[in-house]
Amino acid sequence: MAKLTKDGVIVFKVAVPVPLYQVFDYLAPQEVERSTYAPGIRLQVPFGKTVKIGVLIEVCRVSGPLSDKLKPVLKILDQQPLLSSQDLALLHWASRYYHHPLGDVVSAALPAGLRQGRPAKLKAERYYQLTDDGLAIDSQLLKRALRQYFVIELFKQQPAGLSEAQLSAYTCHWRPAVKALLNKQLIRLVQPVMPPIAGIGEIPLIANLAQQQAIEHLQSALGHFGVFLLHGVTGSGKTEVYLQLIQTVLERGQQVLVLLPEITLTPQLEQRFKQRFTGIEICLSHSKLTDSQRQNSWLAMQQGTAPILLGTRSALFTPLAKPGLIILDEEHDASFKQQEGFRFSARDLAIVRGKLLGVPVLLGSATPSLESLHNVGQQRYQLLSLPERAGQAKQPVVQLLDIRNKKMHEGLSDVLVEAIRKSLDEQGQVLLFLNRRGYAPTLICHACGWVARCQRCDANLVIHAHEHLLRCHHCAKEQPLPQHCPACKTGSLTALGLGTERVENTLLSLFPDKNIVRLDRDSTQRKGRLQDYLQQINSGHADIILGTQMLSKGHHFPKVTLVAIIDVDSGLFSLDFHAPEKLAQMIVQVSGRAGRADKPGKVILQTRQPEHPLLTTLTQQGYNEFAQAALAERKAALLPPYSYQALMRAQATDPHLPLQFLRDVAALLTAHQVNAVQILGPVAAPMAKRAGLYRYQLLFNSKTRLVLHELLDELIVKIAQVKGRKKVRWSLDVDPIDLY
Ligand code: ADP
Ligand code: ZN
Ligand code: ZN
Repeated sequence: MAKLTKDGVIVFKVAVPVPLYQVFDYLAPQEVERSTYAPGIRLQVPFGKTVKIGVLIEVCRVSGPLSDKLKPVLKILDQQPLLSSQDLALLHWASRYYHHPLGDVVSAALPAGLRQGRPAKLKAERYYQLTDDGLAIDSQLLKRALRQYFVIELFKQQPAGLSEAQLSAYTCHWRPAVKALLNKQLIRLVQPVMPPIAGIGEIPLIANLAQQQAIEHLQSALGHFGVFLLHGVTGSGKTEVYLQLIQTVLERGQQVLVLLPEITLTPQLEQRFKQRFTGIEICLSHSKLTDSQRQNSWLAMQQGTAPILLGTRSALFTPLAKPGLIILDEEHDASFKQQEGFRFSARDLAIVRGKLLGVPVLLGSATPSLESLHNVGQQRYQLLSLPERAGQAKQPVVQLLDIRNKKMHEGLSDVLVEAIRKSLDEQGQVLLFLNRRGYAPTLICHACGWVARCQRCDANLVIHAHEHLLRCHHCAKEQPLPQHCPACKTGSLTALGLGTERVENTLLSLFPDKNIVRLDRDSTQRKGRLQDYLQQINSGHADIILGTQMLSKGHHFPKVTLVAIIDVDSGLFSLDFHAPEKLAQMIVQVSGRAGRADKPGKVILQTRQPEHPLLTTLTQQGYNEFAQAALAERKAALLPPYSYQALMRAQATDPHLPLQFLRDVAALLTAHQVNAVQILGPVAAPMAKRAGLYRYQLLFNSKTRLVLHELLDELIVKIAQVKGRKKVRWSLDVDPIDLY
């Protein structure tokens, strides 16, 4: 029992990683003086029969009677807070907005090692600086020891000091020289500081007028909050704008957080950062790194020893010792939204974070999301445009190719095959896009009509011919490719539809002497494969590049002159109201891979719907006009961004349970709420069964955000009354981007 002094006892309010909507009280260790422990430190606490690592949220002095159940904190893990008050404010905000338990949100912000209670120690990087003697010495005197001469010259250019990593970036043989200089007391070891911007590196490009205007505008916006949408057509040089702006931020001694949809798909970008900022530590944070690499990046930013972090979605939460700027590239990309667990939007939270930190947030895209364009219209974001391609490159010519009644070679029309041949003859690379991996999406019996279905999902099995497999793309279940129809035993089996493997086969027979590279999740699974393929493409070794949406992600393939989308129509008929936006973005992004260097580019879209308004508006008038038309449709239908949505999902192995659960949830709503918010469902999810679970959903749609969130606040509390809640897995998705 804690001693009850005349001032009461100290109670710690702790966020514990459990799916409960509350913080938990613990008795502070007796020796603790309130001032020594700030929120943001990690604690080991007893929880039920286990021990958990929590984060201190608040320190309170309680004078009234205490519950006997209050247990003491077991151990204090940090002396200094890992999360600042702004970091905690962001997590609180996110927990409230996404109606997600704070403990879970807080643990999403920590790298795995810290979550498990490992010490918050940065793998020590040593820094060296000139001593007064070193400053004064005439380096010519060291000319006889050439390495020492070289190293001391480096130090003279970098009066603030150099880290081991920086030294390694300049020369790999610095160790003996540094040792000798230490012995001569010309340099000394110093406490880590944020490395200053190195003067040596690739020289910035000369910005064109539009880039220059954007850069200057952004430079003048540094130092306070603001949101900027950099809408630059594909190949307009957005990266150059980022790089020059980042240089200014670094010169101000501040840090930059750069968020990208998927780093591993764009190693080129990392390369460009490294070339531009030589000698500067560029931290990375994404799922392909080890836990300890990610933890090191996190701590380097938190402690201010590194100035740049390139990361994916969850890097958003990385604490910044000296925040200067947040950039989110390809802001329209769906991977900024986490689709499971804590379903947050890194884009939306980046803006909240920028506001809390008082720094600008720069969103970049060639195909901005409708939400962001709407926010520009509402003057919440400032628009910066790069309407032309940079350098010599011109925007490609886009052709809608009507393939109705045309002769086809397994999905490729004669006209397209000829266009491919012509481009190859002219030494251009050809890029073909098909958003379906595998050989074909359907295996059907020619005699009885049997179709290979996944037993666990509401979906067909996809044929993977190379591996002789049928595979479900939703639950990954596999089975051998049958030789005969399992239903009628005699019928022959036919592959229906197209996948990348099948198109690859066709291309191999049409262009036997050409080098074809297939880029999809199957072909790049093995480590290093993607890099190999990108290398083949960039060296010009690949003639035809065939791939899935992997190709639409910001690659710069300068040799591509022809781009074709084999089947645009499959995207035209989805039930999800987000589908047209996604399709238009995909078309523009994939098209944008054509003609990015000196040779002009051409784009062919194969369609049986050449008069479809989406396709005609997009190809004849451009993305902006498409977006305005799509926004007008959303407005008329009262859909986001003109309304606010939340989707409650529930699933279980028994189909009655999730349906009943959602009915019970809907019954909790008051008459007033039912009037104020449009409630759709419960209904079966568009994919009603997945991985053996039956799925249902309840959609809330409201004209005002506040009304929706008040409803959700109440609902989350009341759900504790629903009896069947423990028999289903349920979740709440605020601002869902995918209604499946
Ligand atoms: P985006 O990200 O907007 O699609 P990138 O930043 O990849 O475009 O730039 C496309 C190409 O244009 C790159 O090869 C880049 O080096 C080049 N580039 C960018 N800015 C300039 C400039 N001011 N002058 C010449 N070339 C430029
Ligand atoms: Zn059959
Ligand atoms: Zn399945």
